[in-house]
Amino acid sequence: MSLKVYINGKLYDKDDAKISVYDHGLLYGDGVFEGIRSYGGKVFRLKEHLDRLWDSAKAIWLEIPISKAEMAKVIEDTLKVNGIQDGYIRAVVTRGCGTLGLDPNECSDPQVIIIADRISLYPDELYQKGLEIVTVSTMRNHPAALSSRIKSLNYLNNILAKIEGLQAGCIEALMLNHKGEVAECTGDNIFAVRAGLIRTPPCEAGILEGITRDVVIGLARDAGFEVLEVPLTKHDIYIADEVFLTGTAAEVVPVVKIDSRSIGNGTPGKITRNLIARFKKLTQS
Ligand code: PMP
Repeated sequence: MSLKVYINGKLYDKDDAKISVYDHGLLYGDGVFEGIRSYGGKVFRLKEHLDRLWDSAKAIWLEIPISKAEMAKVIEDTLKVNGIQDGYIRAVVTRGCGTLGLDPNECSDPQVIIIADRISLYPDELYQKGLEIVTVSTMRNHPAALSSRIKSLNYLNNILAKIEGLQAGCIEALMLNHKGEVAECTGDNIFAVRAGLIRTPPCEAGILEGITRDVVIGLARDAGFEVLEVPLTKHDIYIADEVFLTGTAAEVVPVVKIDSRSIGNGTPGKITRNLIARFKKLTQS
């Protein structure tokens, strides 16, 4: 059975789910999106994702044509109609069809798209063995030019960093901000553990405020760990005992090597494994 994709109130077969070439989402990356998980048929942290989607839209003067409650319902319905239990949902709102000029006021019909599919981002063995990453030269967007807190359809900054990572043989890459501080990876937030203390860059470092990041900070604090949101340098990552990444698709993934240096003893650390287990428990409860 073909996957059904929701576009503005209707379900289409995947092959027939189409958007105009005049949509400014395509022409200019003018739009916003969310990547959301479902576990056991239940949407994980739906409210947080909807809040972030609405915040992103507000920041770009985009009015989402349906309410949060309606969006929640169509997300749940699209998941159900596709019979997906453990899946990945992509919610997209484009600026809609306009002219070939930039003016968003010429766009009258924002497109609300919901895709419910399955995902496996990283192979299972990476969660056991850990991931190798590299720092790339593509700087994270300057937050005064384009806030990283807006989850917009323009992901070129991250894609350029991803290409650099892939060329170096790594599937994830670390990006620094305009101050040379650690920001985040191309699609994941980063954490470093040293002497039992867990640290992660603050929002001011120019990062996406990851929902998994928030969940993991909460889980770690509940487990009695101290977590600080403080600026970090590459040096802090190099000398960490443990490093891990968080993201909706990746969940919690250990990093064991960066820029050819082993992290700690080169295997996933104890606190990382503890948090992976706690995260798993949360998503399977
Ligand atoms: N940073 C970036 C740049 C991202 O695209 C994402 C989402 N893939 C994240 C961090 C992680 O955020 P979340 O936990 O909300 O998925």
